[in-house]
Amino acid sequence: MCGIVGAVAQRDVAEILVEGLRRLEYRGYDSAGVAIVDTDSSLTRIRRLGKVQELADAVNEAKVVGGTGIAHTRWATHGEPSEINAHPHMSGDITVVHNGIIENHDELRELLKSRGYEFESQTDTEVIAHMVEWELRSASTLVEAVQKTAKQLEGAYGTVVMDRKDPSRIVVARSGSPIVIGFGVGENFLASDQLALLNVTRRFMFLEEGDVAEITRREVSVFDANGESVKREIKETEVSHDAGDKGEYRHYMLKEIHEQPVALQRTLEGRLANGQVVSSAFGDNAHQLLSQVKHVQIIACGTSYHAGLVARYWLEEWAGVSCNVEIASEFRYRKSHVFENSLLVTISQSGETADTLAALRLAKEMGYVASLTICNVPGSSLVRESDMAYMMKAGAEIGVASTKAFTVQLAGLLMLAGAIGHHNGMAVEKEAKLVSALQSLPAKLEQTLAMAESIEALAEDFADKHHSLFLGRGEQSAIAMEGALKLKEISYIHAEAYAAGELKHGPLALIDAEMPVIVVAPNNELLEKLKSNVEEVRARGGLMYVFADDKASFESDETMKVLNVPHCDEFIAPIVYTLPLQLLSYYVALIKGTDVDQPRNLAKSVTVE
Ligand code: GLU
Repeated sequence: MCGIVGAVAQRDVAEILVEGLRRLEYRGYDSAGVAIVDTDSSLTRIRRLGKVQELADAVNEAKVVGGTGIAHTRWATHGEPSEINAHPHMSGDITVVHNGIIENHDELRELLKSRGYEFESQTDTEVIAHMVEWELRSASTLVEAVQKTAKQLEGAYGTVVMDRKDPSRIVVARSGSPIVIGFGVGENFLASDQLALLNVTRRFMFLEEGDVAEITRREVSVFDANGESVKREIKETEVSHDAGDKGEYRHYMLKEIHEQPVALQRTLEGRLANGQVVSSAFGDNAHQLLSQVKHVQIIACGTSYHAGLVARYWLEEWAGVSCNVEIASEFRYRKSHVFENSLLVTISQSGETADTLAALRLAKEMGYVASLTICNVPGSSLVRESDMAYMMKAGAEIGVASTKAFTVQLAGLLMLAGAIGHHNGMAVEKEAKLVSALQSLPAKLEQTLAMAESIEALAEDFADKHHSLFLGRGEQSAIAMEGALKLKEISYIHAEAYAAGELKHGPLALIDAEMPVIVVAPNNELLEKLKSNVEEVRARGGLMYVFADDKASFESDETMKVLNVPHCDEFIAPIVYTLPLQLLSYYVALIKGTDVDQPRNLAKSVTVE
């Protein structure tokens, strides 16, 4: 699920590999390792628990030489984080790194033990090393041994194999976990994400599901799942942003929060014209496909799921179509029924989220009109496998807790409501209003970021709390959920969100002075209802923090702190109100001293089920 980097070159590659791992650090990991072979077949393997810097120091000290190597950051799924469980894993001359999970590892482990193999680690990965070692005894090439191994593996994996006896090549296999090959001059590279290689190349080939590829200094040969030799396109990357730099900011998360006006500007560029959403924002064929849509099924996980929940209100109200939103891991294992003329929408920052991808593949068999993905990574699996794609253009997001990707997803989804509404009887003036609200976003977000200082002061109140409650109504109930998730993710404070109307059906029992209540209160038709909910909390001695429109006439007093959010159009209020909640979680985490960019136990791109 974390990082893989590899290189076949004439020069020493230790530094390239370690730098590649550094660029993938943002994904979260628990240990790191590298194995490098020199032309005389001498192999050095170094692994360290903890940060890539520990590995870098050890590699420097050992002065590792060699032009062929593989490296890995591990996010443990099988076996505790430890040096012994860190990758690369070895079997005889075979060295392996792997992202993902081998589901039938128990069975294979028994089989391999019966063949006399001894296991050093508790990982599922080690079975791959022994399997390849075994298959290579009868196969004529390493590719053949990996192909034979791949046929016996169940689960999701991206795996990379090196044979000490033949340092001229590396073999990779992709099944459920991305692998990209980077082309250099007289040297070639591979990684689980192109970001890892942006300092050595800009030319990439994305492997497809089931592909096995052999990489030498001068050549890359790809074989599909049936073992047929295939050509895959080599593309110059569009990723312009070099993610390696935090600039003036202390954390990537803070940088990404502040990047939102620019990210929104970029995502809107060329996509709004003459009071309308330009339907080609969703792909060349979108105009015709969107005109048929009468129902939308949204599938996503985590923060992207919250974006979907907001979009449901928009699609039903503005586009006049019904909408369901579901968590991908539930959708994929549930018997669902497809409404007539239904559009499937997946949302994922990385485009590699395992459950969302599996849900898309399943849904393709079910008779949807078309599939659309809202995604930030060009060339990712969701983009390649969907009929239409809205490319977010948010720039690389490094902080594990998603911020700018969320608000950009929301903008894309609001445009989708406009584009579907256009075909579905949305009044021309309404569409024009939606478009001008979208256009006002960059400036409005800039204005909202000016709240940072007052939110920083407010954060002091939270740092010693163990629980908190977030309330909102309508689409803001989903923003409350996203606010609670952010606080949980990076400050480890237990946070729950409720649609405010649900308060008296249970959570009111929790209210006391130790349970801060955060209320998201824009000036909309639900404001009066929300005010009653606020009174319910006040009557029970709760302490409230209200993010309110400056026209909503909330007054601060001893039980309630009011923070005014710049007045904005109701279309974009969910996007605007997200920012103060992101800032709140950031400043609380800062006081608590947690690892803001790489919160414990979490990973950025969730490519395992
Ligand atoms: N399942 C493997 C392990 O636990 C790989 C985890 C990863 O993707 O980093 O070692």
